[in-house]
Amino acid sequence: MTKRELSGQPLANPGKLFIGGAWVPAQDGRTEPDISPVDGQEIVPVAQAAAADADAAVAAARTAYEEGPWSRLSAQERALRLNRVGELIERDLEEIALLETVDMGKPFAFSSTVDAPMAAQLMHYYAGAVTRVDGSSRAPAGGQLAYTLREPLGVVCAITPFNFPLLLSMTKIAPALAAGNTVVHKPSPATPLTALKIAELFQEAEIPDGVLNVITGPGVELGETLTGHPDIDKIAFTGSTSVGQTIIRKAAGTLKKVTMELGGKSANIVFADADLDAAEELAFFGIYYNKGEICTAGSRLLLQRPIHDEMVERLVRRAADLKPGDPRDPATLFGPLAHRGQFDKVSSYIEVGEKEGAILRTGGSGWTPEGASSQGLYFLPTIFTGVDNSMRIAQEEIFGPVLSIIPFDTEEDAVRIANDSAYGLAAGVHTKDLRRAHRVASQIKAGTVWVNCYNQYDPAVPYGGYKASGYGRECGPESLESYTQTKSVWIGM
Ligand code: NAD
Repeated sequence: MTKRELSGQPLANPGKLFIGGAWVPAQDGRTEPDISPVDGQEIVPVAQAAAADADAAVAAARTAYEEGPWSRLSAQERALRLNRVGELIERDLEEIALLETVDMGKPFAFSSTVDAPMAAQLMHYYAGAVTRVDGSSRAPAGGQLAYTLREPLGVVCAITPFNFPLLLSMTKIAPALAAGNTVVHKPSPATPLTALKIAELFQEAEIPDGVLNVITGPGVELGETLTGHPDIDKIAFTGSTSVGQTIIRKAAGTLKKVTMELGGKSANIVFADADLDAAEELAFFGIYYNKGEICTAGSRLLLQRPIHDEMVERLVRRAADLKPGDPRDPATLFGPLAHRGQFDKVSSYIEVGEKEGAILRTGGSGWTPEGASSQGLYFLPTIFTGVDNSMRIAQEEIFGPVLSIIPFDTEEDAVRIANDSAYGLAAGVHTKDLRRAHRVASQIKAGTVWVNCYNQYDPAVPYGGYKASGYGRECGPESLESYTQTKSVWIGM
């Protein structure tokens, strides 16, 4: 099949920030090229906001919150407008998906069937959910009446990572706006384009000025300005555990609320009684989906001893066959890594694994597909066997297509190894024994456990971390609740 190409200018307002409903340049006029990992070429210039621009975005969001109609609209009225944004995402689905693909290297096969459709679904889900948020009423002793209201927090700052730029923006923006807050969004500097595209759709949907603001630019400087900003009420963050810790410290100064969706090193456990064909598929895409650049990647594969060697052979064969390709080709399932820093980080772990004594069975290097640009950041699917769970390649988040395979003997061993991690984001359990499935799921210290499936998401199902993988939940009703605060009103009778 022929690869898809962006038709003409992918953004109506390249090189601009979206502040207070208007497209404006950074105050000092700076832009930087946004580089595609597919071929190393500039896609569009991107504005480089500084502290003064961040202040302007926060001021616009504050004014929209305090003076604008948004937080005072009925839930139904906000829902109507958010559904309109969802419909516009559906209208432009292919264009948005392709922009995500070119900016991030995510295969179009996934951006067009997972990321873009689910972005629209999130708008629709939270538009519906907010119409069902209820307070409660009580008649405490003494004859008074007390009732509760769920009110918005104010100005929310969404800070998002490079790996699911569109989806992880929507998991924050949709519930935050549905609840009546206003938002300043700072996307990853590596992949800011779909955030800007979505802002265009907000404008088209006539969402009031200042309700959504998007500022692009240097991640650390802008991030630190925003997380210390006195006029922001909540930080909704997805990213690495170390940056999350920095943000919590900074946010403490002004006592902001925070939700933290952080790193992972998930164990995918295959018992000897599993359906091996299904387990092979789920172990394979558990790690190689999104090129391993997914927080829930099943990067530690735990294989029970009797099926260890057979599964290793199957997976090594398959990984050696899965060659990276141009992500714009709809047949491609595995694209380039998202940015140069990622490529270097993943590469560095190959030496780490070999030095620790693990066996590199396949992959382990960059690679250029036939006919592709040598500037593309393609990295081969990689498998290490003979891994001990204490090794760095089993403990540290590589965030790339590197699978560490660890053998185990008993169910107790599997649970112990799975839980022997600073992280606790997700896990997989593959077995035909229903009782074992429930037993293991209950003992795993992780926010999500997939039994005989992997990497499943739905707007209605919460996900988030245990331990160093963070706190708070995205998706589902819990997330909507986290963008509200409860007020109790007492009526003397
Ligand atoms: P990162 O932590 O480097 O950056 C995330 C965001 O924080 C970016 O927008 C960045 O510009 C910004 N940032 C950087 N320094 C900052 C600072 N000092 N103050 C405020 N903001 C700052 O993460 P990344 O490399 O973009 O993404 C990969 C990480 O994200 C991985 O650890 C992955 O596990 C995690 N992740 C977690 C989930 C989840 O749901 N738990 C989902 C996706 C990604």
